[in-house]
Amino acid sequence: MIQKFFDNIYKIELPIPFPMKTTNVFLIDERPRTLVDTGIKTDASFEELQKALEHLGFSISSIERILITHGHIDHYGQAQKISSLSGAPIYIHPKDYGKIRSIIHSFGSLKSILLRNGVPETLVNQAIRFIESAQKMADSLSEAFFLEDGDSIPFASMTWKTIHCPGHSSGLVCFHWPEGKTLFTGDHLLKDITPNPVLNIPDNPSPLRYPGLKEYLSSLQKVEGLEINLLLPGHGEEVHDPQGLIRKILTHHQERMNQVLSLLSPGEKTPYEIAMDLFPGVPPFEIFLGVSEAVGHLEILREAGRVRVKEKGTKDFYSLEG
Ligand SMILES: [Zn+2]
Ligand SMILES: [Zn+2]
Repeated sequence: MIQKFFDNIYKIELPIPFPMKTTNVFLIDERPRTLVDTGIKTDASFEELQKALEHLGFSISSIERILITHGHIDHYGQAQKISSLSGAPIYIHPKDYGKIRSIIHSFGSLKSILLRNGVPETLVNQAIRFIESAQKMADSLSEAFFLEDGDSIPFASMTWKTIHCPGHSSGLVCFHWPEGKTLFTGDHLLKDITPNPVLNIPDNPSPLRYPGLKEYLSSLQKVEGLEINLLLPGHGEEVHDPQGLIRKILTHHQERMNQVLSLLSPGEKTPYEIAMDLFPGVPPFEIFLGVSEAVGHLEILREAGRVRVKEKGTKDFYSLEG
């Protein structure tokens, strides 16, 4: 499906084999002709993109630049393939470029993080196998240009700005078109889903062991300060009330914070146990996301002096402070 915004922005929905069903990529028909995100690398996704571009009078080889919002397979998966076919340079934040390049080597540390957070070993192995096989739906990036916060992205008759919004992933960038009051958000803001700051192995020493959620909340404030009235997200429909959506997400996290506190009142728990209380009966891959959500809140509460963490054996247990 193709949807048009302004004179020259086309949203193209590409299929993904996950519950969200589709990823949005955007074609900007202005020189250099730019694709924002690329979708996952499957035959179905590639054919759908090809068909949509032809329908609009273009082709894969007419793409002149590829901007990547973040290093998740549903967003960068076929970037390398499109770049090889068209010669279009790829732009991405260095943190997610590094993550993509080292993903194969990071399964070991991901495994130990999940075990440490109390996830049973059989589930950890299932989750890792799922992520490993999903990784086949993406090509690693060979060469890329780096986008840092504040970097300009010039077009023939407009200039976008790069807004670094760590949280959902540590190298996520949004693209701001000030004259159009429009923001391309990747997975930082989605219409009907509260984006999950995925459990990241911290890139540098931080007071929080898992800073994802804290970073996510301050990235929300960063976007709150922009003059925007249209969000073009990486999944689902556009959003016409950015400030309302941000308020809704902030309220949701406040409620979740209170929920986590009350789940701890009977006594200490691992993040996995909290995740099971929050999301009973979730499939293995989503356990990983549930633990990310639990640990993000626990670490913010720990920093605020509301909970403490104790290492017992090889696992972390959180309990209410004092
Ligand atoms: Zn993502
Ligand atoms: Zn996504």
